[in-house]
Formats: sequence, structure tokens, C-alpha cells
Amino acid sequence: MKVVSLKFSDFRNLKDNIIYPGEDINIIYGDNAQGKTNLLEAIWMFSGGHSFRGAKENELTKFGSKTSKIEMNFFSQEREQKASIMFSGNKRRVEINSVLKPSSAYLSQCFAAVVFSPEHLALVKNGPSLRRKFIDGAICQQNIKFAVLLSKFNKTLFQRNALLKEMYKHPELKDTLCIWDDSIIAVATEIVYKRIEYINKLNIIAAEYHKGISSGKEEFSIDYVSNAGILLTDGKKEIQEKLYFAFEKYIKEDIKLACTNCGPHRDDLEFYINGMKAKNFGSQGQQRSIVLSLKLAEAKMLKDYFSESPVVLLDDVLSEIDRSRQEFLLENTRGCQTFITGCEPPLKQGESIKIFTIEKGEVK
Ligand code: ATP
Ligand code: MG
Repeated sequence: MKVVSLKFSDFRNLKDNIIYPGEDINIIYGDNAQGKTNLLEAIWMFSGGHSFRGAKENELTKFGSKTSKIEMNFFSQEREQKASIMFSGNKRRVEINSVLKPSSAYLSQCFAAVVFSPEHLALVKNGPSLRRKFIDGAICQQNIKFAVLLSKFNKTLFQRNALLKEMYKHPELKDTLCIWDDSIIAVATEIVYKRIEYINKLNIIAAEYHKGISSGKEEFSIDYVSNAGILLTDGKKEIQEKLYFAFEKYIKEDIKLACTNCGPHRDDLEFYINGMKAKNFGSQGQQRSIVLSLKLAEAKMLKDYFSESPVVLLDDVLSEIDRSRQEFLLENTRGCQTFITGCEPPLKQGESIKIFTIEKGEVK
């Protein structure tokens, strides 16, 4: 996959412009707060997800403007395609090849990107929500229905929690809880099953990369952590049974705290190096290697799925990792169109490197 052109109008602080990236490495450099991440964010939006820095939709439009638009021509599935996203308040209007789509998730069927930013470096150490976001975001790029499942789950969870709150005043409502349990467990089972399926593949590929980064010295593995006791070897039936059992077990606590204590919204990933928890025992360098392995594995899985390489967005990460990890990363993303941001002009120049500078939102 290659971005052929990118046009932006009233997007963040970027001055309206159209750019034509190179097919291999694109370096975007400039001082802090000039718009480098905004530019990567514009490309990332075409992967169909939300902003990788957790921005709300209305924050993407230039201060003082009502709407913004980004348009991209890209090469994918052996042909040139085009897509546009118009942001208006909290709404998006997405067109792919001039056809209006009901949701931005459709973008993930024709364009894929992997983003690696300094926030990801905290993936091992930070709270579980970042890890859930990582795994769910990665699955969404390969499975358009997964985003629908997640949104269905969140709606059902909201309703179940609302009922639990109501039960404070009206304990007789307990009888209706089982109806919500059936619907929430049905969606939760699908979500957990898809996550497990993804982690089982990720486990093999990421372990291979990790072996490469650690020169064969370290064994890396991922486990799924759930208070329902779900294992990576479980099938759909086992997941569903365990969820029913756990919902039963947590019922008193759910009512007492007026929230749902069990389900995919509480699950987590645990990373291990040589059988030890990386969160507790891994060094900074080892934790960075894990993130690198996970991100490279995510890219490899997208490549296998689409039969072509995703676009790689490296936001300020090269300065955060040591030379050998930098080389490993660049070596293993060779063949992907890559966008690298940084504050320093690149040391290397060559035919395959296209350089952009950015100053006060003006890209040159
Ligand atoms: P750094 O090197 O520090 O990461 P950067 O070049 O990546 O900097 P960006 O994160 O892209 O900088 O942000 C550039 C500027 O864009 C910031 O100063 C920010 O205030 C501004 N900005 C963010 N959102 C909007 C918006 N909706 N409208 C106008 N300006 C915005
Ligand atoms: Mg930045």
C-alpha cells in the first residue's frame, strides 16, 4: 500500500496543501509543535480508526473552522483508489472511490497502516486500557465487523450498568438482569474469541521478532488475562461457559458497586520474557523491544491479510530507541512506505528518501 497524494483542508494546524510522498521512506522534520504528528494523524485516519492520540473528532478541525477535509489517493489492491473524510463537529462523512460509506470502518477494507508513537512505548508498563486499545485496534483493521461488536458491547454494558444502578432503588428489577446477561455474554464471547484468535497468531510472530532483537537470548510470550479464567486454548463454547460462570460469581459485587466487573472491558494482556512478567521484571530496553516486536508483528499480520505491506507511521520513535533497535525496525519495515517524524534533519539522504520540512503547519 502506498499513499500517492494527501490533501488537507482545515485539518488541525496544517496549512491547506497537497503533498506527494515518496514510495519508500518519507522523513518529516521540523521543530516541536509545528504539525508533524498532525500530518501522520491525517494519514492514519484513512485506516478507519480513531485518532491514535485519543483526540475527539471535533479536535481534528482547525480552531475556528466548522469543518475540515482530508483526501488521499493511494495504491492498494493493485489499483489506484481515492478516499475522503470530512469532519464536521463529531461527525465524519467518508467516501471511498466517490461512494458514500455508512461508517469510516469501511476504510479499513482498502487501506491499512501501523502507527508507532512514543505513547506505545508505555504499552507494557501502563494500565490495561492501552493494551486493550492496541489489540482491539489491530483486530479492527482486519475485521470490519469487530468494530460493530465493540460498539454493541459498549451499548449493552451501558444499559446493564444503568439497570444495576436502578436496582439500588428497585431490587425487584433483578429478574430482568438475566436478559441483559444473555445479550452481553453473547457479544462478549465473540469479542474474547476474536482477541484470543489474534493473540495466538501474534504470539508466534512477535516471539520471532523478539528473538531477532535479543539475538536469540530471550523468549517472548503473551497471555490473555481475564477474571473469568479464560485461556488462550479456549474455544467459543468454553469462553461462553466461563463468562456465564463469572457473571454469576460477580453478581453480588456488580449490584453492590453498580457496575459490571467481568467481561472484555476488564480483560488485559500480560507480556512475558523468559517466563517472567515483563511489567514487573523487564528492563526499559526489554520493554521497548516488546513494543517493537508487537508493532512489527502487527504490520506482518496486516501484510499477510492484505497480501501487501501496510503503510508504516513512525512518530518520533527513532530518537527514543537505541541504534541497534532503530536498525532492526528499519530493516524489518523495508518494502513498506514509511513516514518518519523527528526534530533533526536526517543523517542519511538517498534516492529512496523523500524529505519534507514543516514549519507552523506549512509542509514543504
Ligand atoms: P512535537 O515535535 O512536539 O511532537 P509536532 O510537530 O508533532 O510537535 P503536532 O502535535 O503535530 O506537533 O501539533 C502542532 C500544533 O498543532 C500544536 O501546537 C497544536 O496546538 C496545534 N493544533 C492541534 N490541534 C489543532 C487544531 N484543531 N487547530 C489548530 N491547531 C491545532
Ligand atoms: Mg509530534
